[in-house]
Amino acid sequence: MKALLICEYREGKLLDSSYELLAFAGKLGADSAMVLIGDAVNVPRYGGTVYLADAAGYGEYNPDLHKQLVLAAVAQENPDYIVFQHSSYGWDLAPRVAAKLKVAQISEVIGINDDGFEVGCCNAKMRRTVKPAGAKAVLTVQAGAFSVQGEPQGTPNVEKLEIAGTGSVEFVGYEPAEAKGIDLGKAEVIVSAGRGVGKKDNVPVIAALAKALGGELGASRPVVDAGWVEHSHQVGTTGQTVSPKLYVACGISGAIQHLAGMKKSDFVVAINKDKDAPIGDVADVLIVADVMQFVPALTAKLQK
Ligand code: FAD
Repeated sequence: MKALLICEYREGKLLDSSYELLAFAGKLGADSAMVLIGDAVNVPRYGGTVYLADAAGYGEYNPDLHKQLVLAAVAQENPDYIVFQHSSYGWDLAPRVAAKLKVAQISEVIGINDDGFEVGCCNAKMRRTVKPAGAKAVLTVQAGAFSVQGEPQGTPNVEKLEIAGTGSVEFVGYEPAEAKGIDLGKAEVIVSAGRGVGKKDNVPVIAALAKALGGELGASRPVVDAGWVEHSHQVGTTGQTVSPKLYVACGISGAIQHLAGMKKSDFVVAINKDKDAPIGDVADVLIVADVMQFVPALTAKLQK
């Protein structure tokens, strides 16, 4: 079985997500090959084939050009699976490739079992298993779902990817989004509110703990979706990625999409009334308690 991994390369660096694609291929038991598209690419250590498209103008995302380059690699490698990260790059490019190849696409894979690929459903509360009807498929893999076991080693066999022309789309430029709200990426302490805080009126209790610790307020997605906290506070795949010295998760279950945003925190404290909540797997300290009883008591102690 062969998996062609479409790696993301930005500002002179292979994104960590590429190593997660390698971990995914390893779990699948597939031989992997990488596609790297960029401008002045440093090819990483890796013991397999790297299909390299390295030219001026390739560093910026151009959907038509990148699709043609991926299809050129598919033609050479003939993989069973063409695998993207479930990122904005993968969201845009994977369906273009699947449509052109007329093969199935399975999005947001979070696991593999004997019957197929596991994907989330019911707002990620449950998993269902799906498998492609045909022999070939395009997959997107959820960030944080497959653990990286160190950086790859070895010397790659580099195959140059070339296509004629520049594609039907021209990259014009980037415009930075208007800065709104807070930048959690720089915070050393983050105290996040999850659905377990119960209601909007309880959020200030969590914010008070954040303030007492000299930190910022974070939140899980349901808290943001409910309008209790602004989106700029959301941690996770569709929020911010954070790496504070201390992360305190209050009433947060530990869904993959949340963990992907905070798993690089140095020290994680979770407060949850369920001793088996998945957040316990990544927490350095799990406090089994009612968050609305424990947090005010802790804040009062800190304020003394
Ligand atoms: P829940 O999963 O409902 O967990 C609540 C927790 O609180 C439970 O563990 C419960 O035991 C505990 N609890 C309840 N009451 C109390 C109490 N009184 N005291 C102590 N503990 C209590 N989620 C994100 O956070 N960030 C994202 O960026 C994100 N992006 C997503 C993108 C996609 C495409 C999808 C499908 C989902 C995304 N999600 C994201 C949602 C994610 O899958 C989870 O649904 C979400 O993280 C759950 O939030 P939660 O832990 O606050 O709520």
